[in-house]
Amino acid sequence: MDNQRTVPFFPYSKFFSSQEKELTEVLKDVLNRGAFILQKDVTEFEKNIAEYIGAKHVIGVANATDALILALKASPLQPGDEVIFSSHTFVATAAAIHFAGCIPVPVECGPDHMIDPKAVEAALTPKTRAIMPTQLNGRTCDMDALQKIADRHQLLILEDSAQGLGSKYKGRFAGTFGLAGVLSFYPAKILGCFGDGGAVITNDEGVAEKIKLLRDHGRNHEGQVVIWGLNSRLDNIQAAVLNFFFRDFAKIVDRRREMARIYHKNLSNIEELKIPPAPDSSADHFDTYQNYEIEAEKRDELKNFLKEKGVGTLIQWGGSAVHQFKDLGFKTTLPYTENLFKRLLMLPMNTLLSNDDIFYICRTIQNFYKN
Ligand SMILES: *Cc1c(COP(=O)(O)O)cnc(C)c1O
Repeated sequence: MDNQRTVPFFPYSKFFSSQEKELTEVLKDVLNRGAFILQKDVTEFEKNIAEYIGAKHVIGVANATDALILALKASPLQPGDEVIFSSHTFVATAAAIHFAGCIPVPVECGPDHMIDPKAVEAALTPKTRAIMPTQLNGRTCDMDALQKIADRHQLLILEDSAQGLGSKYKGRFAGTFGLAGVLSFYPAKILGCFGDGGAVITNDEGVAEKIKLLRDHGRNHEGQVVIWGLNSRLDNIQAAVLNFFFRDFAKIVDRRREMARIYHKNLSNIEELKIPPAPDSSADHFDTYQNYEIEAEKRDELKNFLKEKGVGTLIQWGGSAVHQFKDLGFKTTLPYTENLFKRLLMLPMNTLLSNDDIFYICRTIQNFYKN
């Protein structure tokens, strides 16, 4: 029998300590410069990300939820417009639509857990003005199918690409397809900081200008207030931390794809599971495995078994699709998504995992289904 291991779902306490010396230097440098708000570290970070994903503008904001709200506010959408989104997403997607004065319309996801283009078409009404696909788990949706629907019905696309940094569809990065996309730098995201952080991505000059005003009290370069604004700036100290982690981003993506390969190799023979596609299994998709979300028979028993064996797992969104929060006023039933949510489970996926950790997790799952 295996020696028991402890593999937390996400090792928050090791996030700093694993590179304590280097990170302390980064923090000291920013603090000694007194560079707290919208200083060069933010500008550099915005430039780094924009170059990497091939976008004209990346604008650092306080978090991805704000990024979505600001993107919607900077778009031509009007109060009362309907925005279609996949119910397999964080409540923040729908909350942003709500706080922009629009109406969130949840639809089904498909077998790949991404928004189902057929469900989007079925949900169209004369009030539909936009689609907000979630680039979930480090995978980018079939953007051709969504773009076709958008073109046919003159809809905007705004991407909740909070989980999508580095992920591509047909060679193009998540967040760069629609009028705007967003990024989250929540600690457990593929590029995380030491608190909250986010960004808006856009190729549209007008949207970019508006976001820069909205995030900083509506003030322009001369300090004149020209529109009603908010305070939603990416902290300069977080930007410095992000610049530090971003230097290794290519390695981070490679490592996550390598871990997905190991999971795939060691789990693909278990009939009771449905696991994510292996890296390079499709020419169209380049996945970065923000999450390794499996479908499992006897999901709750498996989760408990793994816990007894020292392995932390997580059920995304606390186990509810957005439309299942009836207190928010949703009346829809989405049978496919509801059934799927009884089976979903996320296995540990972060760069502090060793190959032996993953082998141990896979052996433990094998043992669970053998008995
Ligand atoms: C993390 C996340 C958000 C929110 O990001 P914050 O930076 O925490 O506001 C929104 N949508 C999705 C899909 C996410 O995963």
